[in-house]
Amino acid sequence: MDFGFTKEQEEFRREIRAFLDAELPADWVGYPAPTTGDHTGGSQDGEQVFKDIARKLGEKGWLSLFWPKEYGGQSRSYIDYLIFSEEIARRGSPGYNPVSVKMLAPTLIEYGTEEQKERHLEPIAKGQELWCEGFSEPEAGSDLASLQTRALRDGRSFIVNGQKTWSTFAEYSDWCCLLARSDPHSKGAKGLSFLLVDLSTPGISLSPIENMAGEVHFSQIFFEEVKVPEANLVGRENEGWEVAQALLGYERTSIEFVAMVQAMIEKMIEYIRATPERQTKANSDLLARLAVDAEIGRLLNYRVAWLHDKGINTAWHAAMTKLYSTDLFRRAAGIAMQLMGLYGQLDRREAVAPWQGWIAHSYLVSFGATIAAGTSEIQKNIIALKGLGLPRK
Ligand SMILES: Cc1cc2nc3c(=O)[nH]c(=O)nc-3n(C[C@H](O)[C@H](O)[C@H](O)COP(=O)(O)OP(=O)(O)OC[C@H]3O[C@@H](n4cnc5c(N)ncnc54)[C@H](O)[C@@H]3O)c2cc1C
Repeated sequence: MDFGFTKEQEEFRREIRAFLDAELPADWVGYPAPTTGDHTGGSQDGEQVFKDIARKLGEKGWLSLFWPKEYGGQSRSYIDYLIFSEEIARRGSPGYNPVSVKMLAPTLIEYGTEEQKERHLEPIAKGQELWCEGFSEPEAGSDLASLQTRALRDGRSFIVNGQKTWSTFAEYSDWCCLLARSDPHSKGAKGLSFLLVDLSTPGISLSPIENMAGEVHFSQIFFEEVKVPEANLVGRENEGWEVAQALLGYERTSIEFVAMVQAMIEKMIEYIRATPERQTKANSDLLARLAVDAEIGRLLNYRVAWLHDKGINTAWHAAMTKLYSTDLFRRAAGIAMQLMGLYGQLDRREAVAPWQGWIAHSYLVSFGATIAAGTSEIQKNIIALKGLGLPRK
Protein backbone atom coordinates (compact mmCIF):
# COMPACT_ATOMS: atom_id res chain seq x y z
CA MET A 1 0.00 0.00 0.00
CA ASP A 2 1.47 3.33 -1.08
CA PHE A 3 -0.05 6.49 0.37
CA GLY A 4 2.26 8.85 -1.52
CA PHE A 5 1.70 10.90 -4.66
CA THR A 6 4.08 10.50 -7.57
CA LYS A 7 6.58 13.25 -8.39
CA GLU A 8 4.43 14.17 -11.39
CA GLN A 9 1.36 14.47 -9.18
CA GLU A 10 3.19 16.69 -6.68
CA GLU A 11 4.35 18.83 -9.59
CA PHE A 12 0.81 18.95 -10.97
CA ARG A 13 -0.47 20.22 -7.61
CA ARG A 14 2.20 22.94 -7.56
CA GLU A 15 1.29 23.91 -11.12
CA ILE A 16 -2.40 24.33 -10.22
CA ARG A 17 -1.52 26.41 -7.16
CA ALA A 18 0.76 28.65 -9.23
CA PHE A 19 -1.94 28.99 -11.89
CA LEU A 20 -4.55 30.05 -9.31
CA ASP A 21 -2.12 32.49 -7.66
CA ALA A 22 -1.52 34.09 -11.04
CA GLU A 23 -5.05 34.07 -12.43
CA LEU A 24 -7.45 34.75 -9.54
CA PRO A 25 -8.27 38.43 -8.97
CA ALA A 26 -6.13 39.87 -6.17
CA ASP A 27 -9.22 40.43 -4.00
CA TRP A 28 -10.75 37.01 -4.68
CA VAL A 29 -12.43 35.81 -1.47
CA GLY A 30 -12.84 32.19 -2.51
CA TYR A 31 -16.01 31.42 -0.62
CA PRO A 32 -16.82 27.71 -0.40
CA ALA A 33 -18.94 26.28 -3.21
CA PRO A 34 -18.60 29.31 -5.44
CA THR A 35 -21.33 30.14 -7.90
CA THR A 36 -20.72 32.89 -10.39
CA GLY A 37 -21.69 35.47 -7.76
CA ASP A 38 -19.35 38.28 -6.88
CA HIS A 39 -16.61 36.61 -4.88
CA THR A 40 -14.12 39.38 -5.42
CA GLY A 41 -13.90 42.18 -2.95
CA GLY A 42 -16.02 44.08 -5.46
CA SER A 43 -13.42 44.71 -8.15
CA GLN A 44 -14.89 42.57 -10.93
CA ASP A 45 -18.00 40.95 -12.31
CA GLY A 46 -18.17 37.46 -10.76
CA GLU A 47 -19.81 35.85 -13.79
CA GLN A 48 -17.14 37.16 -16.13
CA VAL A 49 -14.38 36.00 -13.77
CA PHE A 50 -15.96 32.54 -13.76
CA LYS A 51 -16.11 32.36 -17.55
CA ASP A 52 -12.57 33.69 -18.04
CA ILE A 53 -11.06 31.20 -15.59
CA ALA A 54 -13.15 28.38 -17.13
CA ARG A 55 -11.63 29.05 -20.54
CA LYS A 56 -8.12 29.16 -19.10
CA LEU A 57 -8.67 25.88 -17.22
CA GLY A 58 -9.90 24.47 -20.54
CA GLU A 59 -6.77 25.64 -22.36
CA LYS A 60 -4.70 23.79 -19.76
CA GLY A 61 -6.66 20.60 -20.48
CA TRP A 62 -7.74 20.42 -16.83
CA LEU A 63 -11.47 20.22 -17.54
CA SER A 64 -11.11 16.89 -19.30
CA LEU A 65 -8.42 15.24 -17.20
CA PHE A 66 -9.86 11.77 -16.77
CA TRP A 67 -11.83 11.51 -20.02
CA PRO A 68 -10.33 9.13 -22.59
CA LYS A 69 -8.02 10.68 -25.22
CA GLU A 70 -10.28 9.56 -28.06
CA TYR A 71 -12.94 11.96 -26.75
CA GLY A 72 -10.61 14.91 -26.37
CA GLY A 73 -9.63 14.05 -22.79
CA GLN A 74 -6.22 13.63 -21.21
CA SER A 75 -6.64 9.97 -20.13
CA ARG A 76 -5.16 10.91 -16.75
CA SER A 77 -5.98 9.04 -13.55
CA TYR A 78 -8.94 9.84 -11.30
CA ILE A 79 -6.41 10.61 -8.58
CA ASP A 80 -5.02 13.40 -10.81
CA TYR A 81 -8.54 14.68 -11.24
CA LEU A 82 -9.01 14.67 -7.46
CA ILE A 83 -5.84 16.70 -7.00
CA PHE A 84 -7.33 19.25 -9.38
CA SER A 85 -10.70 19.31 -7.54
CA GLU A 86 -9.00 19.59 -4.17
CA GLU A 87 -6.90 22.58 -5.20
CA ILE A 88 -9.80 24.33 -6.92
CA ALA A 89 -11.99 23.92 -3.82
CA ARG A 90 -9.25 24.90 -1.40
CA ARG A 91 -9.10 28.31 -3.07
CA GLY A 92 -12.84 28.47 -3.77
CA SER A 93 -11.83 29.02 -7.38
CA PRO A 94 -14.39 29.83 -10.07
CA GLY A 95 -14.32 28.31 -13.54
CA TYR A 96 -15.14 24.73 -12.70
CA ASN A 97 -18.64 23.42 -13.48
CA PRO A 98 -18.83 19.91 -11.98
CA VAL A 99 -22.14 19.00 -13.67
CA SER A 100 -20.57 19.22 -17.12
CA VAL A 101 -16.97 18.19 -16.44
CA LYS A 102 -17.33 15.47 -13.85
CA MET A 103 -20.86 14.16 -14.42
CA LEU A 104 -22.35 14.80 -17.85
CA ALA A 105 -19.21 14.28 -19.95
CA PRO A 106 -18.51 10.72 -18.73
CA THR A 107 -22.24 9.94 -19.00
CA LEU A 108 -22.25 11.09 -22.64
CA ILE A 109 -19.12 9.07 -23.32
CA GLU A 110 -20.94 6.00 -21.98
CA TYR A 111 -24.49 6.55 -23.25
CA GLY A 112 -24.46 9.40 -25.78
CA THR A 113 -24.66 9.17 -29.55
CA GLU A 114 -21.56 10.06 -31.58
CA GLU A 115 -23.36 13.23 -32.66
CA GLN A 116 -23.99 14.24 -29.02
CA LYS A 117 -20.36 13.58 -28.08
CA GLU A 118 -19.14 15.61 -31.02
CA ARG A 119 -21.49 18.47 -30.26
CA HIS A 120 -20.86 18.81 -26.51
CA LEU A 121 -17.59 17.30 -25.32
CA GLU A 122 -15.25 19.81 -26.94
CA PRO A 123 -17.03 22.96 -25.69
CA ILE A 124 -17.23 21.44 -22.19
CA ALA A 125 -13.51 20.62 -22.24
CA LYS A 126 -12.78 24.18 -23.36
CA GLY A 127 -14.90 25.67 -20.57
CA GLN A 128 -17.21 27.23 -23.15
CA GLU A 129 -20.44 25.39 -22.36
CA LEU A 130 -21.93 25.38 -18.86
CA TRP A 131 -24.55 22.90 -17.69
CA CYS A 132 -27.02 22.44 -14.89
CA GLU A 133 -28.88 19.37 -13.66
CA GLY A 134 -32.69 19.40 -13.90
CA PHE A 135 -33.73 16.43 -11.78
CA SER A 136 -35.38 17.60 -8.53
CA GLU A 137 -38.93 18.91 -8.47
CA PRO A 138 -40.97 20.53 -5.70
CA GLU A 139 -42.51 17.11 -4.93
CA ALA A 140 -39.58 14.90 -5.95
CA GLY A 141 -36.23 15.09 -4.17
CA SER A 142 -34.98 12.01 -2.34
CA ASP A 143 -37.76 10.09 -4.05
CA LEU A 144 -36.62 11.28 -7.47
CA ALA A 145 -38.48 8.53 -9.32
CA SER A 146 -41.79 10.18 -8.41
CA LEU A 147 -41.04 13.14 -10.69
CA GLN A 148 -43.89 14.56 -12.78
CA THR A 149 -42.36 16.75 -15.50
CA ARG A 150 -43.56 15.36 -18.84
CA ALA A 151 -41.61 14.89 -22.07
CA LEU A 152 -44.16 13.45 -24.47
CA ARG A 153 -43.23 12.31 -27.93
CA ASP A 154 -44.48 14.37 -30.84
CA GLY A 155 -43.09 12.94 -34.08
CA ARG A 156 -39.32 13.44 -33.98
CA SER A 157 -39.43 15.66 -30.89
CA PHE A 158 -40.43 15.61 -27.25
CA ILE A 159 -42.70 18.29 -25.82
CA VAL A 160 -41.70 19.15 -22.25
CA ASN A 161 -44.06 20.59 -19.64
CA GLY A 162 -43.37 20.90 -15.94
CA GLN A 163 -41.10 22.37 -13.31
CA LYS A 164 -37.66 21.63 -11.94
CA THR A 165 -36.18 23.17 -8.84
CA TRP A 166 -32.89 23.64 -6.96
CA SER A 167 -30.96 23.53 -10.25
CA THR A 168 -27.51 24.71 -9.23
CA PHE A 169 -25.96 27.14 -11.65
CA ALA A 170 -29.01 27.23 -13.96
CA GLU A 171 -28.94 31.03 -14.18
CA TYR A 172 -25.55 30.89 -15.84
CA SER A 173 -25.92 27.64 -17.75
CA ASP A 174 -26.32 27.15 -21.49
CA TRP A 175 -27.78 23.64 -21.25
CA CYS A 176 -29.65 21.45 -18.80
CA CYS A 177 -29.65 17.67 -18.45
CA LEU A 178 -33.28 16.88 -17.84
CA LEU A 179 -34.97 13.81 -16.43
CA ALA A 180 -38.65 13.72 -17.37
CA ARG A 181 -41.55 11.29 -17.68
CA SER A 182 -41.92 10.26 -21.32
CA ASP A 183 -44.45 7.48 -20.73
CA PRO A 184 -47.49 9.21 -19.19
CA HIS A 185 -48.89 5.88 -17.96
CA SER A 186 -45.73 4.91 -16.11
CA LYS A 187 -44.92 5.18 -12.42
CA GLY A 188 -41.64 5.32 -10.55
CA ALA A 189 -38.32 4.76 -12.27
CA LYS A 190 -39.86 3.27 -15.41
CA GLY A 191 -40.97 5.48 -18.30
CA LEU A 192 -38.46 8.30 -17.76
CA SER A 193 -36.19 9.76 -20.43
CA PHE A 194 -32.94 11.68 -20.17
CA LEU A 195 -32.80 14.72 -22.46
CA LEU A 196 -30.25 17.40 -23.29
CA VAL A 197 -32.10 20.71 -23.28
CA ASP A 198 -30.81 23.97 -24.71
CA LEU A 199 -31.90 26.56 -22.13
CA SER A 200 -32.48 29.17 -24.83
CA THR A 201 -35.36 27.09 -26.29
CA PRO A 202 -38.68 29.01 -26.36
CA GLY A 203 -40.99 28.08 -23.46
CA ILE A 204 -38.25 27.88 -20.80
CA SER A 205 -38.17 30.40 -17.98
CA LEU A 206 -36.05 30.58 -14.87
CA SER A 207 -36.74 31.91 -11.43
CA PRO A 208 -33.56 32.32 -9.36
CA ILE A 209 -33.60 31.24 -5.70
CA GLU A 210 -31.45 33.05 -3.17
CA ASN A 211 -29.99 30.89 -0.40
CA MET A 212 -29.56 32.05 3.20
CA ALA A 213 -26.01 33.18 2.43
CA GLY A 214 -27.63 35.73 0.10
CA GLU A 215 -26.45 34.09 -3.11
CA VAL A 216 -28.31 32.86 -6.14
CA HIS A 217 -26.99 29.34 -5.95
CA PHE A 218 -29.88 27.67 -7.75
CA SER A 219 -33.06 28.31 -9.76
CA GLN A 220 -36.45 26.93 -10.56
CA ILE A 221 -36.83 26.06 -14.24
CA PHE A 222 -40.28 26.15 -15.84
CA PHE A 223 -41.03 24.28 -19.07
CA GLU A 224 -44.08 25.19 -21.12
CA GLU A 225 -44.57 23.34 -24.42
CA VAL A 226 -40.80 23.14 -24.89
CA LYS A 227 -39.79 21.30 -28.07
CA VAL A 228 -36.71 19.09 -27.68
CA PRO A 229 -35.45 17.21 -30.76
CA GLU A 230 -35.25 13.42 -30.43
CA ALA A 231 -31.55 13.73 -31.33
CA ASN A 232 -31.13 15.07 -27.76
CA LEU A 233 -32.35 11.86 -26.14
CA VAL A 234 -29.51 10.14 -24.25
CA GLY A 235 -29.80 6.37 -24.00
CA ARG A 236 -33.08 4.67 -24.77
CA GLU A 237 -36.51 6.29 -24.62
CA ASN A 238 -38.28 5.52 -21.32
CA GLU A 239 -35.03 4.16 -19.88
CA GLY A 240 -33.55 7.42 -18.71
CA TRP A 241 -33.39 6.28 -15.08
CA GLU A 242 -30.34 4.18 -15.89
CA VAL A 243 -28.63 7.18 -17.53
CA ALA A 244 -29.52 9.46 -14.61
CA GLN A 245 -28.13 6.92 -12.14
CA ALA A 246 -24.91 6.79 -14.15
CA LEU A 247 -24.68 10.59 -14.06
CA LEU A 248 -25.30 10.69 -10.30
CA GLY A 249 -22.77 7.89 -9.85
CA TYR A 250 -20.12 10.12 -11.41
CA GLU A 251 -20.40 12.51 -8.48
CA ARG A 252 -18.42 9.84 -6.67
CA THR A 253 -16.07 11.87 -4.55
CA SER A 254 -16.63 14.80 -2.21
CA ILE A 255 -13.09 16.01 -1.67
CA GLU A 256 -14.16 19.60 -2.23
CA PHE A 257 -15.78 19.66 1.22
CA VAL A 258 -12.65 18.31 2.87
CA ALA A 259 -10.59 20.88 0.97
CA MET A 260 -12.83 23.62 2.37
CA VAL A 261 -12.31 22.22 5.87
CA GLN A 262 -8.57 22.35 5.30
CA ALA A 263 -8.87 25.96 4.15
CA MET A 264 -10.90 26.63 7.31
CA ILE A 265 -8.26 25.04 9.54
CA GLU A 266 -5.56 27.17 7.88
CA LYS A 267 -7.59 30.30 8.56
CA MET A 268 -8.19 29.29 12.19
CA ILE A 269 -4.48 28.73 12.73
CA GLU A 270 -3.74 32.15 11.25
CA TYR A 271 -6.38 33.71 13.51
CA ILE A 272 -5.18 32.01 16.69
CA ARG A 273 -1.57 32.92 16.00
CA ALA A 274 -2.55 36.56 15.61
CA THR A 275 -4.96 36.66 18.59
CA PRO A 276 -3.33 35.91 21.98
CA GLU A 277 -6.64 35.68 23.88
CA ARG A 278 -7.68 32.79 21.59
CA GLN A 279 -4.54 30.79 22.36
CA THR A 280 -6.23 28.38 24.75
CA LYS A 281 -5.89 24.65 25.30
CA ALA A 282 -9.56 24.21 24.38
CA ASN A 283 -9.03 25.87 20.99
CA SER A 284 -5.90 23.93 20.14
CA ASP A 285 -7.72 20.70 21.08
CA LEU A 286 -10.58 21.64 18.75
CA LEU A 287 -8.21 22.24 15.86
CA ALA A 288 -6.10 19.16 16.52
CA ARG A 289 -9.22 16.98 16.44
CA LEU A 290 -10.45 18.69 13.27
CA ALA A 291 -7.09 18.17 11.58
CA VAL A 292 -7.36 14.42 12.26
CA ASP A 293 -10.89 14.32 10.86
CA ALA A 294 -9.86 16.26 7.75
CA GLU A 295 -7.04 13.80 7.14
CA ILE A 296 -9.48 10.89 7.43
CA GLY A 297 -11.79 12.60 4.92
CA ARG A 298 -8.95 13.18 2.51
CA LEU A 299 -7.84 9.55 2.68
CA LEU A 300 -11.41 8.30 2.19
CA ASN A 301 -11.77 10.40 -0.96
CA TYR A 302 -8.41 9.46 -2.44
CA ARG A 303 -9.17 5.82 -1.75
CA VAL A 304 -12.34 6.07 -3.84
CA ALA A 305 -10.30 7.62 -6.66
CA TRP A 306 -7.77 4.80 -6.32
CA LEU A 307 -10.55 2.17 -6.45
CA HIS A 308 -11.96 3.88 -9.52
CA ASP A 309 -8.57 3.84 -11.25
CA LYS A 310 -8.44 0.09 -10.55
CA GLY A 311 -11.84 -0.35 -12.23
CA ILE A 312 -13.59 -1.30 -8.97
CA ASN A 313 -17.22 -0.23 -8.47
CA THR A 314 -17.21 2.64 -5.99
CA ALA A 315 -20.95 3.21 -5.45
CA TRP A 316 -21.20 2.70 -1.71
CA HIS A 317 -17.70 3.94 -0.95
CA ALA A 318 -18.69 7.17 -2.71
CA ALA A 319 -21.70 7.40 -0.38
CA MET A 320 -19.28 7.10 2.54
CA THR A 321 -17.21 10.03 1.28
CA LYS A 322 -20.31 12.18 0.71
CA LEU A 323 -21.68 11.44 4.18
CA TYR A 324 -18.38 11.93 5.94
CA SER A 325 -17.10 14.95 4.00
CA THR A 326 -20.28 17.03 4.18
CA ASP A 327 -20.93 16.20 7.85
CA LEU A 328 -17.35 17.21 8.56
CA PHE A 329 -17.73 20.46 6.63
CA ARG A 330 -20.82 21.34 8.62
CA ARG A 331 -19.18 20.45 11.93
CA ALA A 332 -16.01 22.35 11.05
CA ALA A 333 -17.99 25.46 10.12
CA GLY A 334 -19.71 25.27 13.53
CA ILE A 335 -16.36 24.96 15.29
CA ALA A 336 -15.01 27.94 13.34
CA MET A 337 -18.00 30.02 14.46
CA GLN A 338 -17.40 28.98 18.07
CA LEU A 339 -13.70 29.67 17.91
CA MET A 340 -13.98 33.08 16.25
CA GLY A 341 -16.69 34.35 18.58
CA LEU A 342 -18.80 37.19 17.23
CA TYR A 343 -16.27 38.02 14.51
CA GLY A 344 -17.09 34.75 12.83
CA GLN A 345 -20.70 35.81 12.47
CA LEU A 346 -20.00 38.98 10.51
CA ASP A 347 -20.80 39.00 6.84
CA ARG A 348 -18.83 40.61 4.06
CA ARG A 349 -20.56 43.98 4.34
CA GLU A 350 -18.85 44.55 7.69
CA ALA A 351 -15.43 46.09 7.21
CA VAL A 352 -14.03 44.22 10.24
CA ALA A 353 -15.34 40.80 9.11
CA PRO A 354 -12.31 38.49 8.94
CA TRP A 355 -11.65 37.23 5.39
CA GLN A 356 -14.63 39.20 4.13
CA GLY A 357 -17.18 37.11 5.99
CA TRP A 358 -15.75 33.79 4.82
CA ILE A 359 -16.56 32.00 8.10
CA ALA A 360 -20.20 33.09 8.29
CA HIS A 361 -20.64 32.25 4.61
CA SER A 362 -19.15 28.77 5.09
CA TYR A 363 -21.45 28.14 8.02
CA LEU A 364 -24.54 29.14 6.06
CA VAL A 365 -23.76 27.03 2.98
CA SER A 366 -22.63 24.03 5.04
CA PHE A 367 -26.24 23.00 5.69
CA GLY A 368 -27.00 22.65 1.98
CA ALA A 369 -23.93 20.48 1.49
CA THR A 370 -25.49 17.68 3.54
CA ILE A 371 -28.65 17.84 1.38
CA ALA A 372 -27.40 18.33 -2.19
CA ALA A 373 -26.70 15.24 -4.31
CA GLY A 374 -28.57 12.98 -1.88
CA THR A 375 -29.09 13.85 1.78
CA SER A 376 -27.01 12.32 4.56
CA GLU A 377 -29.94 10.00 5.38
CA ILE A 378 -30.00 8.74 1.79
CA GLN A 379 -26.22 8.17 1.88
CA LYS A 380 -26.68 6.11 5.06
CA ASN A 381 -29.38 4.08 3.31
CA ILE A 382 -26.97 3.33 0.43
CA ILE A 383 -24.18 2.32 2.80
CA ALA A 384 -26.52 0.11 4.84
CA LEU A 385 -28.08 -1.61 1.82
CA LYS A 386 -25.22 -1.86 -0.66
CA GLY A 387 -22.24 -1.84 1.65
CA LEU A 388 -23.41 -3.67 4.75
CA GLY A 389 -26.02 -5.86 3.09
CA LEU A 390 -28.69 -4.89 5.62
CA PRO A 391 -32.31 -5.58 4.64
CA ARG A 392 -34.41 -2.70 3.28
CA LYS A 393 -36.84 -1.46 5.97
C1 LIG B 1 -27.05 23.20 -2.35
C2 LIG B 1 -28.02 22.33 -3.13
C3 LIG B 1 -27.83 22.17 -4.49
C4 LIG B 1 -28.72 21.37 -5.23
N1 LIG B 1 -28.53 21.27 -6.59
C5 LIG B 1 -29.40 20.53 -7.32
C6 LIG B 1 -29.26 20.46 -8.74
O1 LIG B 1 -28.35 21.06 -9.34
N2 LIG B 1 -30.17 19.75 -9.45
C7 LIG B 1 -31.18 19.06 -8.85
O2 LIG B 1 -31.94 18.41 -9.55
N3 LIG B 1 -31.35 19.11 -7.49
C8 LIG B 1 -30.49 19.83 -6.73
N4 LIG B 1 -30.65 19.91 -5.35
C9 LIG B 1 -31.79 19.24 -4.74
C10 LIG B 1 -31.40 18.02 -3.94
O3 LIG B 1 -31.05 16.95 -4.80
C11 LIG B 1 -32.59 17.67 -3.04
O4 LIG B 1 -32.78 18.76 -2.15
C12 LIG B 1 -32.34 16.41 -2.24
O5 LIG B 1 -32.33 15.28 -3.08
C13 LIG B 1 -33.41 16.21 -1.14
O6 LIG B 1 -34.68 16.34 -1.67
P1 LIG B 1 -35.76 17.29 -0.95
O7 LIG B 1 -35.12 18.62 -0.73
O8 LIG B 1 -36.99 17.24 -1.76
O9 LIG B 1 -35.98 16.67 0.47
P2 LIG B 1 -36.90 15.41 0.83
O10 LIG B 1 -36.61 14.31 -0.12
O11 LIG B 1 -38.30 15.87 0.93
O12 LIG B 1 -36.35 15.01 2.24
C14 LIG B 1 -36.74 15.68 3.46
C15 LIG B 1 -36.07 14.96 4.62
O13 LIG B 1 -36.50 13.59 4.68
C16 LIG B 1 -35.39 12.70 4.63
N5 LIG B 1 -35.70 11.52 3.83
C17 LIG B 1 -36.36 11.49 2.65
N6 LIG B 1 -36.44 10.22 2.18
C18 LIG B 1 -35.80 9.44 3.08
C19 LIG B 1 -35.54 8.04 3.16
N7 LIG B 1 -35.93 7.19 2.20
N8 LIG B 1 -34.85 7.57 4.24
C20 LIG B 1 -34.44 8.43 5.23
N9 LIG B 1 -34.67 9.76 5.20
C21 LIG B 1 -35.33 10.27 4.15
C22 LIG B 1 -34.29 13.51 3.96
O14 LIG B 1 -33.01 13.03 4.30
C23 LIG B 1 -34.54 14.91 4.48
O15 LIG B 1 -33.96 15.07 5.74
C24 LIG B 1 -29.78 20.70 -4.59
C25 LIG B 1 -29.95 20.85 -3.21
C26 LIG B 1 -29.09 21.66 -2.48
C27 LIG B 1 -29.29 21.81 -1.00
